[in-house]
Amino acid sequence: MSSDRSPENWKARAASLSLPQQAYIGGRFVDTADEALFESRNPANGQLNTKVAACSAEDVNRAVLAARQAFAAKTWAGRKPQYRRAMLLKLADAMEAAKDELALLETLDVGKPIRFAQDDVKGAIATFRYYAEAVDKVYGEIGPTGDQDLSLILREPLGVVAAIVPWNFPLLMAAWKVAPALAMGNAVILKPAEQSPLSALKLAELVAQVGIPDGIFNVLPGFGEAVGKPLALHMDVNALAFTGSTEVGKLILQYAGQSNMKRVSLECGGKSPHILMADCPDLDAAINSAATAIFYNQGEVCTAGSRLFVQESLREAALEKLQAATRYWQPGDPLLPDTTFGSLVDETQMQRVLGYIEQGQREQASLLTGGRRVLEETGGFYVEPTVFDRVSQQATLAREEIFGPVLSVIGFEDINEALHLANDSIYGLAAGVWTSDLSTAMRMARGLEAGLIWVNGWDADNITVPFGGYKQSGIGRDRSLHALEKYSEMKSVWMRL
Ligand code: NAD
Repeated sequence: MSSDRSPENWKARAASLSLPQQAYIGGRFVDTADEALFESRNPANGQLNTKVAACSAEDVNRAVLAARQAFAAKTWAGRKPQYRRAMLLKLADAMEAAKDELALLETLDVGKPIRFAQDDVKGAIATFRYYAEAVDKVYGEIGPTGDQDLSLILREPLGVVAAIVPWNFPLLMAAWKVAPALAMGNAVILKPAEQSPLSALKLAELVAQVGIPDGIFNVLPGFGEAVGKPLALHMDVNALAFTGSTEVGKLILQYAGQSNMKRVSLECGGKSPHILMADCPDLDAAINSAATAIFYNQGEVCTAGSRLFVQESLREAALEKLQAATRYWQPGDPLLPDTTFGSLVDETQMQRVLGYIEQGQREQASLLTGGRRVLEETGGFYVEPTVFDRVSQQATLAREEIFGPVLSVIGFEDINEALHLANDSIYGLAAGVWTSDLSTAMRMARGLEAGLIWVNGWDADNITVPFGGYKQSGIGRDRSLHALEKYSEMKSVWMRL
């Protein structure tokens, strides 16, 4: 591919891409057992991208068998960690070589701007590199048990790990799970969301290309009930790593309980509070950040700062700046390099978001900006960046995860009220606070019930730092060396001396 980034070029490249279609099981690209297909559509224009294998329970059985056999053959976990390190680094290099293609596949599948899809791909490559480098640097432990015994605390791979991921960051969410699971020596089955199968299948091509042993990585495109459910119910899957809605996360817990008590880790929904105290050190930065927090990726972000709490004395100035900051996020063709705001992932998601906007108006919130479907003539599913002011804490807008570009502004008087309102949610993924006062910052950081707290910024992000939620936002953490714990079993070995 050329490195020319002109708009025409991205479109031309998109038109000439060969799109992956088949499932990847046991090291081969295969049709599904019943040859069923589903459509991958481009949400920016409604056109068909391609048809992709729609897997079923029978394909799940084939993939679990292939993964189990590959794990048992010790072609992966049985080799030295340096081998896995080298193979995963080779995979990262192959991703690097295919980075433009991977970014295009993301944009074609989910409608996100190509400039941000490129960032996602970079993040996915960095994730593979990080866990590849970690493989031969993680040590076991020796317990302080005294001279009579030697106790070894070992980490062993679990066996077959299934990863079920959503559509908002398809490759990145997959990388957060697949990379540490493979690094620990497991065999992995990846189920991408039905809205976004293409980058996962491209990843499978690269896995085959670099020679990761057959059966160690498998991809099953298809629907949640048809593929995700049988994976989560399977007696021979040892762990299930899930990112998606809280509703489906709860089902996954049930399936694990109904089957083999497989290990479950969940990264689920959010309704993150972003709090502007009156002593905010830089109101312009805070407001730009507030707009980014809700409009980046069209608001289809689990950590989206969807509730903006503004201390009353700041309110007027904050709202004025917010309207200006919103203008940066202009809906447009995601294949144009300057576009900052693309289409929603599909018509269902668009209707869902528009439904929430109508509900906000019914519940008497005041619509400050946006609120409409736009660019309908393109055939795409675009909704304007939308801000509601004076949203009541009891309103649907303030309570439910919309997963779209809709911000609710809520006023507060003092720190106690801010903490109370922010924590009054079933979710606890992320939270942010802007203040010049160190003790306010620390009180907030301690008091906010969330797995990620940002002070005087939003969305600081690094693979070395854990990511995950409190309350109904999930169980367990992705990223950092802690993620390796999810994909390994701890074994204690006692030796009498
Ligand atoms: P979703 O829960 O509808 O789907 C997620 C995945 O689960 C998809 O692959 C889907 O096919 C599968 N699935 C659906 N029903 C299933 C079932 N019965 N059994 C097994 N699998 C099933 O979520 P979505 O709409 O794809 O993504 C949006 C959600 O993901 C939002 O709630 C968002 O907050 C969450 N999310 C969370 C994080 C995080 O890290 N906390 C990151 C990204 C997205």
